[in-house]
Amino acid sequence: MSYLEECVKLAPLHNPPNIIGINACKELMPNTPMVAVFDTAFHQTMPQEAYMYALPYEYYTEYGIRKYGFHGTSHKYVATKAAEAMGKDIKDLNIITCHLGNGSSVTAVKGGVSVDTSMGFTPLEGLAMGTRSGSIDPAITAFLSKELNLSAQEVVDVLNKKSGVLGLSGVSSDFRDIENAAAEGNKRAQLALDLFNYKVKQYIGSYAAVLGKVDCIVFTAGLGENSPETREAVCQGLEFLGAKIDTAKNKVRGKLTEINTDDSKVKIYTIPTDEEMMIAKDTMEIVSSK
Ligand code: AMP
Repeated sequence: MSYLEECVKLAPLHNPPNIIGINACKELMPNTPMVAVFDTAFHQTMPQEAYMYALPYEYYTEYGIRKYGFHGTSHKYVATKAAEAMGKDIKDLNIITCHLGNGSSVTAVKGGVSVDTSMGFTPLEGLAMGTRSGSIDPAITAFLSKELNLSAQEVVDVLNKKSGVLGLSGVSSDFRDIENAAAEGNKRAQLALDLFNYKVKQYIGSYAAVLGKVDCIVFTAGLGENSPETREAVCQGLEFLGAKIDTAKNKVRGKLTEINTDDSKVKIYTIPTDEEMMIAKDTMEIVSSK
């Protein structure tokens, strides 16, 4: 618990309510073991060159500035499910998992462990998202701070809450509204979708290089499970990797489905995530090993 307190600075929105929850449960159920499952845990296997930032080294040792990654529970769950669906041992597979929802991230999973992921020190890094900018030139923050007379925190609030596909489209942070607006000819909505899909594709390409060989690409979360349009747009042009999406099989929502063509070298799946199940499994493992 004291370690959780120590980490409040790193997760100011999440840790305090979690600590309150654990303390309340401890009071009500004093003899029940409490397990904290972190969304960052799955990414602890990343090599140093993937999780370090090229900043003065003391910022890492003194302030814990490094890439932590998030959505780990979901990436682990769908990677495990994909290996099961392929009938293979996850230890023999290279998998790229795309968690695309209001918050989005892509992870490179090698032999069952995370070797890189798109979110960073906070969940702001990486892909463009519902309201988050994702990665931008860091110098933009100082420029905006000066031009708009905003504090550093206020600029970060804009990047977290007013950017992403909401900021670009001016329509909504919900991809359903943006898809509808784009279909009606709204150019900014179309740009928001195009940019979002482009970034996902960029990460897949980057992680294909990191992994050396890709056996499987997985789409999950609100958008990854429910938007055939997003999956198709992201996979377009990935044929050079051996990944060919089957547009007919891809017309599916919310159930585990193989959506690649029969001659595709890379399997492509849409898999509903189940973070609650993964948390329950991790809890079981930890409690039974005590
Ligand atoms: P999540 O954060 O995983 O709950 O995902 C929520 C997001 O998924 C919503 O904001 C929507 O943008 C997107 N989403 C959910 N259902 C659909 C759908 N049928 N078509 C397109 N996007 C969807």
